[in-house]
Amino acid sequence: KSSVVSVDGPAAAGKTTTSLAVAEIFDMKYLESGRAYRVLAYEALRSGVDPTDPKKMVALCSKISRGDRVSELLGLNRYTAGELRSLAVGRTVSKVAGIAELRRRVTNSVHIWAAGNRRSIVEGRDIGTVVFPTAVPKFYLTASAETRARRRLAQEGSGSLKEVFEDVVRRDRADTTRSASPLVPASDAIIIDTTELSIEQVVDRMAEACGA
Ligand code: C5P
Repeated sequence: KSSVVSVDGPAAAGKTTTSLAVAEIFDMKYLESGRAYRVLAYEALRSGVDPTDPKKMVALCSKISRGDRVSELLGLNRYTAGELRSLAVGRTVSKVAGIAELRRRVTNSVHIWAAGNRRSIVEGRDIGTVVFPTAVPKFYLTASAETRARRRLAQEGSGSLKEVFEDVVRRDRADTTRSASPLVPASDAIIIDTTELSIEQVVDRMAEACGA
């Protein structure tokens, strides 16, 4: 087995909850790669940088990661969940995630982070396809858009079901249609549709594949 387990899939498919449980079972380090894109979106909003301008965003990225190339960009210091999970950041993050040079830099930081660990589980959109094509096992979690919207609403409790549903659909579209590393399952990914499954059932399947 490789040193990295990848977990990809659309927004609110249960990646974070299940990855944390698997990390606990196997004593793996856990990384949510989406944090890096959220850090970039948050800093763009804070400093008034146009999140669609690749040159300015790359300069901002250099500023964030100056001195410490990895933990600042990966959002391992400083940021609160409230800052990175705000609606404004949620609306901006797909724009940022479409910039190929930023994706290259985030990928590089994730590689450096993982190199320091014996075994890790990394969650995102392109982990099994681009960041760690040699990850074993690879998981792709999905669920119907309505189920994902309901779960997100229950978890975060802000907005109406309609608003959250529209946000989920909008992010799916942005993630699957961007030219830089669009969201697709890796050819060797274990695809788990979690629509009808409990968290425990998903974690059991994942743990089994990880060699419990
Ligand atoms: O996982 P999370 O919802 O926090 O990710 C926020 C956004 O970051 C996603 O909607 C996606 O556009 C982007 N992302 C990405 N590649 C990753 C992780 C996240 O493009 N590996």
